[in-house]
This record gives sequence, C-alpha cells and structure tokens, in this order.
Amino acid sequence: MTEKTIYELSQPGRVGVTFPEPDVPLTPSPMGFEREHLNLPELSELDVIRHFTNLSKLNYSINSGFYPLGSCTMKYNPKINEEAARMPGLANTHPFQPIVSVQGNLYIMYQLQEWLQEISGFHRVCLTPAAGAQGELVGALIIKNYHQKNNDTKRVKILIPDSAHGTNPATSSMSGFNVVPLQSDERGNVDIQALKSECDETLAGLMLTNPNTLGLFDENVEEVIQLVHSAGGLVYGDGANLNALLGIVRPGDLGFDVMHFNLHKTFSTPHGGGGPGSGPVGVAEHLNDYLPGPIVTIIEEGDEESPPFFGFYWPEKTVGRMKAFYGHFGMLIRAYTYIAMHGGKGLRNIAEMAVLNANYLKSQIKEDYTLPYDRTCMHEFVVEGSWDKVPAVHALDISKRLMDYGFHPPTNYFPLIVHEALMIEPTETESKQTLDAFAKAMKSIAKEARENPDLLHGAPFTTPIRRCDEVKAARDLVLCCWIPD
Ligand SMILES: *Cc1c(COP(=O)(O)O)cnc(C)c1O
Repeated sequence: MTEKTIYELSQPGRVGVTFPEPDVPLTPSPMGFEREHLNLPELSELDVIRHFTNLSKLNYSINSGFYPLGSCTMKYNPKINEEAARMPGLANTHPFQPIVSVQGNLYIMYQLQEWLQEISGFHRVCLTPAAGAQGELVGALIIKNYHQKNNDTKRVKILIPDSAHGTNPATSSMSGFNVVPLQSDERGNVDIQALKSECDETLAGLMLTNPNTLGLFDENVEEVIQLVHSAGGLVYGDGANLNALLGIVRPGDLGFDVMHFNLHKTFSTPHGGGGPGSGPVGVAEHLNDYLPGPIVTIIEEGDEESPPFFGFYWPEKTVGRMKAFYGHFGMLIRAYTYIAMHGGKGLRNIAEMAVLNANYLKSQIKEDYTLPYDRTCMHEFVVEGSWDKVPAVHALDISKRLMDYGFHPPTNYFPLIVHEALMIEPTETESKQTLDAFAKAMKSIAKEARENPDLLHGAPFTTPIRRCDEVKAARDLVLCCWIPD
C-alpha cells in the first residue's frame, strides 16, 4: 500500500471548521486520540463539498437519467417515500421495544400485508424476506416442507422453464431439489408437451416467472398450473414482474400456490447498489401454516372507543425465521406510502402505462433490431443485439455505446435463450419524449454498426472509466480508496 491515494487533496494546516475557544480546562484525551496523532486529511469545507459532489456525479442513477435495465424495474422512486421512512416516530424505533410502544409500526405492516393480499389474491403474506431471491428460497422450502408433512418424499424435482430468472434454479437447488429445465415453445410460452412428459410422481413443483424474462405473459398459464396440480405438484410464482399485472390479473386467482413480491421493483423502494430490498411472500390458503414468521396480526379487536391491538404470530408448521427481527422495515414504509398514494385505480394505471411504454418503444426500434418473439409484450421486451451483416458487433458494444448517448444500458445476455440478448424495460415513469430519445439513440447505433463498427468497439468514450475488464472487476474487487502497489 502507498500512503498516497487517488483522492489525496490534503494540505497541511487547512481546516474546515473553527471551534470557539473552550470554556472548560483542556485535559489530554485518555486514549491518546489527539489531532496530531491521527492521520486525518486537512481540508476546507469547500474542498470537501466539491470532492463529494464530484464523486456523486460519476454515478449513473435513476435520478440522473433513463435506466431501462430489463427485469430490474428501475422506476422513479418518489421522494415522498423517503419523507415517510424518515419520520422520527418510525425511523427511531428499535426492534426490541415493547410492542405496546410500536402499535403504529405494526399497523403499517398489517395494512401492507392486507394490501399485498388484495393485490395478489393470496390468503396470507409474510413481510420478512429480504429480497426476491430470498422469497424464492422461502417458496422452495415451503414446497419441500409441504410434501414432507404429507409423507410424499418421492417428490424431489422442480421444473424451471428456460425463460425463468436465474435465481429460480439457484434457490431450488439450494433447497435440495433436482432442477429440471423446461424448454419454451416458439411463442415463448412453456412447452406444454415438454411439461406433460415431466408430470410424474417425483414432481415437487414448478417455478414460473410470469410474465417471463422475455417480457411475455404465458398464454397457457392456467393449463400449466392445472397440469402441475393434477400431478400433485405445487406452483411457485416469481412475482418480480408484477408491475405488468397490477390491478389487472391476480396470480392467486390464476392458481399459483406461493409467490414473492419485489417491493423494490413493483412498489418503488430504491434498489441498485446492493439494496436493501424486500421480498414478501404470499401463499394460498392451504399453505398458510408454512409461512416464515413473525407475521403481524390483530391480538385484540378494536371498537369505536379504541383501535385494535397488534402483535405477532408464528404459523404452526413454519419454515422458520428467514431474517433478523421483522425484515427491512424502512422498505415496508416506502411500499406502504407508494400503495396508499396510488390507490387501486392508480396501481392499475401503473401496469397499463408500463405495458404501453414497452410496446411503444418496441414498435419504435423493431425495424432496426431483430425481435425473436414478435408479439405484444408486457412491461419489457427482448431484442437481439447483433446483426448477421455485421458479425463483429455484439450486444455489449451496443450497450457501451448507449452510455455515450447518455443512457444506462439495458440488461445484456439475459435471458439466455435469446442470441446476444438486450432486455429493455422502460417502466411507466418515463415520458414519450424520453422513449423517443432512447429509440433515436438505438437507431443511430444500428447505423453506426453498419457504417463504422470500430466506433462501437471503442465505446464508451465519454464516461469517467472507459471499458473495463468486468470479470476482473467482479473477482478482484477493490473496496478501499488506496491504490494498491
Ligand atoms: C429481480 C428478479 C428476481 C430476484 O429478486 P432480487 O430482489 O434481486 O433478489 C427474481 N426474479 C425475477 C424475474 C427478477 O426480475
């Protein structure tokens, strides 16, 4: 390690704050932590403000521009959510406080559980899982425990369509299941024949991402669920794409047995940069007893004089605790605020606008990019990021070039079933002007690819860091600001 850092701005003697003369006698610090012993930077207030302001400008975020990262639902996070989560009565509570002193918090959690049940058509909801993937793990464990409690121990197989999110096979296999992939048909639905041939007495369940990662609603979803049920299996719904369905379709009504929500996608709690997320899980009535705990409930009904008294319960055959305390409470407040602000009609409007925006954008760029599944999409769509005529250009080059046009790239190389996939999700919060500007950039990149492919290979030219070795960046992460020798 060298002492010199890339951020080394310190100048001996420079100070940011001048304290008044002390009005008590000076005594040496008992620990020896005095200014001259500490290697602290010496900076003025202005140096510090400029340093952090400039650092913040190196980041791309939803607050600075369009962020069509498919599957991630990078919608605008309304600032009123932040106001609510920072209210001192909520932000300053402690999980060890006696429940009599946090009845307001429990009311919010109870109401959110009720709303998620109403939105999804499920019977009970547990709010504790920390993210979508943890919600899936809960679901897989519920499926496992359910079969075990029924002494149905032959059921070791989970079916995962090839259009599923990567976390689906990961959480199934973590739960000890054998993962069997199911192919999609030419319209991007689960292939019914392939499904039928897997429906036997070893079937534990199926995990269905719907709409799937192609942005397509499975046209045979009810038949798929019915086939799995009649073979004795359960169906897990990956609810991360609920943004397309809000107020229109309820997964519980379709027959799904268990599903997770991504509050940080559908309900606008901030994500990116690693969280915290929130992935509540909902279940149909026959699985109520398996949910993780604790779950908020009414312990004493209220009346005209007094409000109900809230507390917690643990379901009888619970899969156990998934998260310390009660989950990410701050995220629950944000989602509660968002749902309260929109109301039922507003939520439906979100889904309609998300679907409209995706279909509009798709129609704007489909002449220039190959659409492997050309049918009405839901909230996102996938194009091929390559052309037979310009074999040297790849989806990654297009994404890197988009940065020069001021846009965050779409999701790359996912789903795996599309060659050189670019997965684009505009969300409902973007205006027609923004979508048009993005379509224009995509069109000019297609033209550049034909006329000057090397330009795309060199991109990005305008970002603080140009092309980096992404594998090395992930494997050998440097988390401190020292420049290693
Ligand atoms: C984001 C996502 C997940 C995983 O959710 P996390 O909160 O990131 O763990 C699962 N499935 C789909 C379809 C997703 O888009």
